Amino acid sequence: MSDSLIAQLRHLAALWLFGVTALAATTWVCFQLGLGFEAASFSLLIVIVFLSLMDSLISSVVFSLVAVVGLDYYFVPPLFTPLIFSKQDLWALATFIVASLVITSLVRRTRRLADTVRDRARLLDLTHDSVFVRNLGGEITYWNHGAEQLYGWRNEEAIGKVAHDLLQTVFPLPFEEISHELLASGHWEGELVHTKRDGSRATVASRWSLQTDERGQRIGTLETNSDITERKRAEESLTQIQAAHLTEAQRMGRTGSWSLDMSSGVMSASPELFRIFGLDAEKDELTQDFVLKSVHPDDHAFIEEVMRRRATTAADYEYDFRIVTAEGTIRHLHSVSHPVLGESGVLVGYFGTAMDTTERKHAEEALRQAHDDLARVSRVSIISELTASLAHEIIQPISAAVANARAAQRWLDPEAPDLEEARAAVAAIVSNGTLAAEIVSRTRRLFERGALQGEVVEVNDIIREAVQLLSGEAARQAVSIRTFLESTPEILADRVQLQQVVVNLVLNAFDALKEVDGKKEVAIRSQLDGEQVMVSVSDTGEGLPPEMVDRLFETFFTTKPRGTGMGLSISRSIITAHGGRLWAEPNNPRGATFQFALPILPQQPTG
Ligand code: ADP
Repeated sequence: MSDSLIAQLRHLAALWLFGVTALAATTWVCFQLGLGFEAASFSLLIVIVFLSLMDSLISSVVFSLVAVVGLDYYFVPPLFTPLIFSKQDLWALATFIVASLVITSLVRRTRRLADTVRDRARLLDLTHDSVFVRNLGGEITYWNHGAEQLYGWRNEEAIGKVAHDLLQTVFPLPFEEISHELLASGHWEGELVHTKRDGSRATVASRWSLQTDERGQRIGTLETNSDITERKRAEESLTQIQAAHLTEAQRMGRTGSWSLDMSSGVMSASPELFRIFGLDAEKDELTQDFVLKSVHPDDHAFIEEVMRRRATTAADYEYDFRIVTAEGTIRHLHSVSHPVLGESGVLVGYFGTAMDTTERKHAEEALRQAHDDLARVSRVSIISELTASLAHEIIQPISAAVANARAAQRWLDPEAPDLEEARAAVAAIVSNGTLAAEIVSRTRRLFERGALQGEVVEVNDIIREAVQLLSGEAARQAVSIRTFLESTPEILADRVQLQQVVVNLVLNAFDALKEVDGKKEVAIRSQLDGEQVMVSVSDTGEGLPPEMVDRLFETFFTTKPRGTGMGLSISRSIITAHGGRLWAEPNNPRGATFQFALPILPQQPTG
């Protein structure tokens, strides 16, 4: 026999002994007091009810039977015998035993229910979540330990208070909407903000469930809240960090983003977009109207058309346009927009980006200008190459003019003058002279724009500008340009022409690297060598076969299918015109180095 069974039996024996003694004592007292059957039976019933709180149904049956025996013996005639003669007495005893069993079972059930409720309440106290129950009037009827911990009010302080007044609840939706959902589904979940006893605020994830009685009538709402204040804070700071990164990335990429709600026409924009439009994100508003007003007059009709099409046709759009900012500067924008579709594919808005391409446009413009200048310089160089032939051309009309003049002299001989012939000879002289003048002025016109513009320049500045001009091309060809620039004294030079030489040498290096696999690098070095500034451009490209080195600088020498063979000869004539030297050397193990040396300005005596 197990220990627990022995303990149970012991408890039962003690209870029965106690119960029977209590019933006997009650019977004896009632008898001594000379009470009748009814009064004695009520007294015994009370004792049985008390005893029933202590144990099971069997005990109640036992106690009821003992009480019936006592009643029969002392209060039902003939007294002091177990005999019953009248039907009435029998009925009274039967009624007593039924009443006793019904009442004790009801009492036990009520007690069990109370125990269950108490156990549940104890469980609710164990959870860390705050749990409270509100009745239909919103008053708190239950307030667990977790609620005490979270909000700071003790159970007895909270009970009876209107919950949402006490906690100053901030709802995420109108209260009517929440109630509506609660009534419809029996549940609601959402985030609330509560104010604690100490005045601080807590954000809670709240779950509500409707409480009903057995008949399905609403009796209140059970609200379970878990504190997510810290999580919220962490989320917010993460969001802030991400927003800061995004803003920084947009600033570096000069790209703003925006979204547009089609139904309201409301536009929201990132700080970078405000900056691009010359606005302050903190103070100003960026609306569609403002964007349209800022569009450059020449692009206005186009942008209006884009906006019209965007409103009717959900599609991706990509377009370039210009704006005029409040300060009056013109900015070039490249915009991309993507439609946002709602349920059943309806167009609800757009997300988009706008990249400020002004600087890129300027760089492209400068590069084009540089190309134009280079073309001009090549023209000048060709002209210098062609000067000899032009001189030859001029000799023809001049010799003819001299011959015609001699003839005219003869025809005007006073001995036998022939004025007709003389006039014809003079007319020929005029046309010979006109032709010569035309040849000369054509040559001069071609030379005019290429005149050397001497100014004091820093070679390193020129190299840096050239590298910047070529950065787009370098990226396209996956070549990295490295510069090793030592500080060098100033020189007297034509900035544009010198830049064209550097550009030309680097572009040649790019060409030489075209067929090379792996890393493609061009190195530009500058250094002072005695009285000269040396600049070199080296590559690891196809290199220079020895038989080629001597011919590289010849006009029209090229090994490229689309080459002109003029770049190096022009470059050399520019460097020579500056009093310098340009030459090429093969690189070890591969590639070529082109370098030029330019005289520095005479130093001012110091002291
Ligand atoms: P183009 O490049 O138009 O042919 P250039 O005068 O610039 O005319 O160059 C003449 C030739 O010199 C090129 O066709 C090429 O064969 C050679 N050359 C120039 N630069 C390099 C270099 N960095 N590496 C190898 N060969 C080069």
